[in-house]
Amino acid sequence: MRDVMVIGAGLSGLVAAIRLRQAGLSVALVHKGRGGLQLGQGTVDVLGYRPQRVARPLDELDEFLADQHRASDIPHPYAHTGADAIREGVRYLAELVGEDYLVGDAEVNVALPTAVGALRPTAYYPPSMADGVISLDPAKPGALTAGSAVVVVGIREFKDFTPELIAGNLALNDLPGGGRLEARADWVSFPARDGEVDSTGLNIARALDDPARRGALVDQLKALVRPGETIALPAVLGHEDPAAFADLRAQVGSPMFEIPVPPPGVPGMRLNDRLTRIAKEARVEVFLGSNVLGADSAGGVLQAGVVGTTGHDTHLKARAFLLAAGGFESGTLELDSYQKVSETILGLPLAIPAGELIHDTWAGQQPLFSVGVATNDDMVVVDPATNKPVYSNLYAAGGVLAGAQRWDEKSGEGIAVASAVRAADAIISNLAGGQR
Ligand SMILES: Cc1cc2nc3c(=O)[nH]c(=O)nc-3n(C[C@H](O)[C@H](O)[C@H](O)COP(=O)(O)OP(=O)(O)OC[C@H]3O[C@@H](n4cnc5c(N)ncnc54)[C@H](O)[C@@H]3O)c2cc1C
Repeated sequence: MRDVMVIGAGLSGLVAAIRLRQAGLSVALVHKGRGGLQLGQGTVDVLGYRPQRVARPLDELDEFLADQHRASDIPHPYAHTGADAIREGVRYLAELVGEDYLVGDAEVNVALPTAVGALRPTAYYPPSMADGVISLDPAKPGALTAGSAVVVVGIREFKDFTPELIAGNLALNDLPGGGRLEARADWVSFPARDGEVDSTGLNIARALDDPARRGALVDQLKALVRPGETIALPAVLGHEDPAAFADLRAQVGSPMFEIPVPPPGVPGMRLNDRLTRIAKEARVEVFLGSNVLGADSAGGVLQAGVVGTTGHDTHLKARAFLLAAGGFESGTLELDSYQKVSETILGLPLAIPAGELIHDTWAGQQPLFSVGVATNDDMVVVDPATNKPVYSNLYAAGGVLAGAQRWDEKSGEGIAVASAVRAADAIISNLAGGQR
């Protein structure tokens, strides 16, 4: 019997599993595949829009929650975690992975250039994006300010990055402090393998992990950059070697930053791999490629998770369970052709907004995306009809939670880490208090 079974190895499952293990509990982390982190930008969004762009997420949290409460009867996950858990969750994650992976400040958002030349707010970002930071706080200038010159450089063998589009749009943005950037486009050639005309981002990143391959890129960048310019490149500058970017930047001798590209994103993979390694080093017991099909329960207490393994099902016993299996994007929530939404692993009751779930317009929020499981402030799953725990030892964290519009709000990672630490701490204290 383990102390805790965590279902899902996205950001919320990984963070919770590591925290539980560091508190001395035995943890089984069971997942059918990698989570959204692997597909993402490697940034940590706490709260980017409400709907206007947010400069100080935690200062604006109360107003955001009050607006949200007026608009919906489903509490937002942040209403349960509160600002302290957001602060602690982001701090914990950043400290775990270290400054080679994440830098920033949960209190203050910055804007980063995107792969279409827009500016998107986020709180924490990889150090390889630091030279592209545009401040949203007038008291704290960013690396790029009005009049800064940027050369956006495409790699001919990498098709998912169009420097002309990015540079053209980037120069059209009015910066939060006033003024605009100057931006132009240029190209280099860097086949990941000899003669390869169409390389993936991951293959280019792997090639750049090899110090001997970097010289070819450095020479071309030095030849094209003009005095005073900052170089922007697709986020493919090294995969496993966190020093690859810093080495390239130092060799070129100009400020340089990475722009995240459409999924799958190398910065997300770096973060995912780092957290997975930390979990294994902490001796979290990881069950890869294992589909949780259901659970055994008795007297309102979960006893065991049923895991689909070849030939037979395994009943994995634990004292507490954390559902960190994501939302619609990971298949944990499902909408059928009769417009019925269900939670597919444990058949939990869901908080569902009243009225139409999908508007037939792309503009505005889709109520469907706020469907999820309801919890109390300890992240124990409750029945939204009664507010009573469904099982006394079942907790939830991350994308499965009801009440958020993660993509619109840019709150996905903040919710994941805040709810993960909140749930982990509640489990630690409850198991220490007699449930063990
Ligand atoms: C492509 C993409 C881009 C995103 N971009 C942004 C963004 O820009 N800003 C933002 O704020 N948020 C963004 N998000 C959302 C954000 O990444 C997530 O909200 C956050 O990471 C939630 O993580 P999670 O751990 O709850 O779930 P997930 O990352 O979805 O992980 C779910 C885990 O559960 C496992 N699982 C599911 N079902 C089972 C089962 N039956 N048995 C075993 N394991 C199971 C999966 O294999 C996976 O390991 C993005 C997500 C995606 C996918």
